[in-house]
Amino acid sequence: MATTVTLNTGAQMPIVGLGTWKSPPGKVTEAVKAAISAGYRHIDGAYVYENEAEVGDGVHAMIKDGVVKREDLFIVSKLWSNFHEKSLVRQGFQKTLSDLKLDYLDLYLVHWPMGFKAGIGLFPLDSNGETISDDTYFLETWEEMEELMDAGLVKAIGVSNFNKDQIEAILNKPGLKYKPAVNQVECHPYLTQDKLIPLCHSHGIAVTAYSPLGSPDRPWAKPEDPSLLEDSNIKVIAEKHKKTPAQVLIRFQIQRNVIVIPKSITPQRIQENFQVFDFELSEEEMKTIVGFNRNWRVCSMQLSMKHKDYPFAADF
Ligand code: NDP
Repeated sequence: MATTVTLNTGAQMPIVGLGTWKSPPGKVTEAVKAAISAGYRHIDGAYVYENEAEVGDGVHAMIKDGVVKREDLFIVSKLWSNFHEKSLVRQGFQKTLSDLKLDYLDLYLVHWPMGFKAGIGLFPLDSNGETISDDTYFLETWEEMEELMDAGLVKAIGVSNFNKDQIEAILNKPGLKYKPAVNQVECHPYLTQDKLIPLCHSHGIAVTAYSPLGSPDRPWAKPEDPSLLEDSNIKVIAEKHKKTPAQVLIRFQIQRNVIVIPKSITPQRIQENFQVFDFELSEEEMKTIVGFNRNWRVCSMQLSMKHKDYPFAADF
């Protein structure tokens, strides 16, 4: 089982990475250190998680201790929606880079296709509680992402939460210099992405699965919501392999050649989530898991449902 995915840039992207959304600044440094000690070489972050300085502290501590070198690591971040204007992309990127105290990123993603009005906070809201849009179309933002490539500041660029039409809009952009290397989207057995994954793969775009465990710590969780980690069908498969439900959920992705970024701040779970290379789900089990799809989303970004570039009104 390969532990990396080859990107369309030629780079090897580690197939399991550490997620950092909701990881408190006071905990994430230790989480990053625990992950690197456990063998992770891929860390997924974002400006909007408001913890990149502390993620960087963890990375630098491990480099300083001689556990890894910078070039052994694959560091990912994302441009937040209030930096979509062409004149702001570089500024948003530089903030991330200086918070992380790095001189390049391995992958930089446009976090969402929708742009938000700049200069008034991360989630500028109108009186109806809806995000205030910025008119920049993401194809313009993409040109600035390409500039970051040309400046040698990022080794690969990609997108996140882009639907089929939005991916195709980039691929068909006149004068396109670089195709997206990755589309990072929500993916787990309740949202299997059976159409979007093959579409991306057919264009040489790798897919990263976010919220692979169903994001039990999402701030808007309700008691009646379905729970992947408690799903009795997943538990049966896990018991058969003497693995945990989390390990089955992670293994499900890597067996489809999908990169996966479980988040944890708990050292024992961080280790557990990386112990996924020593068992194999059968073809039948993979099919069974795909059958659990119910098009259920953790991150539907309902505050932006009226935005012209909202991605989730389309079929996929
Ligand atoms: P996950 O599906 O990774 O779930 C994280 C939760 O699961 C935490 O509560 C964690 O607890 C718990 N957990 C982790 N491992 C185990 C385990 N082995 N057993 C039981 N519970 C476990 O959710 P996220 O939504 O955080 O998604 C992962 C990452 O994807 C994010 O952190 C972020 O990096 C990225 N992401 C990207 C988005 C985008 O728009 N591009 C949107 C959402 C996520 P604890 O930490 O307490 O151990």
